[in-house]
Amino acid sequence: MGPTQQYVMDEPLNLDSHFMQEALRQAWRAYDAAEVPVGAVVVRAGKIIGRAFNQVELLTDATAHAEMLALTQAQSAVGDWRLTDCTLYVTKEPCPMCAGALVHCRCARVVFGAPDPKGGAAGGALNLLQFPTLNHRCEITSGVRGEECTSLLRQFFSEQRTLNRALRHSRSVHRAGSNPPGGSEPRAPEEPDAS
Ligand SMILES: [Zn+2]
Repeated sequence: MGPTQQYVMDEPLNLDSHFMQEALRQAWRAYDAAEVPVGAVVVRAGKIIGRAFNQVELLTDATAHAEMLALTQAQSAVGDWRLTDCTLYVTKEPCPMCAGALVHCRCARVVFGAPDPKGGAAGGALNLLQFPTLNHRCEITSGVRGEECTSLLRQFFSEQRTLNRALRHSRSVHRAGSNPPGGSEPRAPEEPDAS
């Protein structure tokens, strides 16, 4: 995008859709790395100042959610832990950990794609982003490119299930034949708490 055409889109929804597309690009990077496909970008004054994808398996770190990594980048870029004039775009509704971080850094606005009624903390299972007794509340916009974000997650988990079935089958075939010594089994991500 050239400097002259920077964000001439006057409808906020188009702008949201544009930045969610960037978050989706990150989610696909997670997918390609066999991570739960969630991506996030942080935007300030129309510019992306943090972008990341979920890296829990790659970094062996349960806190390495896309939002956490993108927020850390954004705080470095701003030179301040306060992100009071920033918007975070994420492909899946933030979990309680990430919602807590968003409140801590006083993020102005959170836009997400896929809802998470079981584990989401932006109004799905609970709403930490607008919790009455906390000292900061984030504006929330949900369902931006929701279909794309949800179908990417569905595709990933469906493939994981197929993979697991194939693994179980191959192990049972192994057991029927010879018994290989101490084979460790690759662990599949768990759907409910992996984002
Ligand atoms: Zn999270």
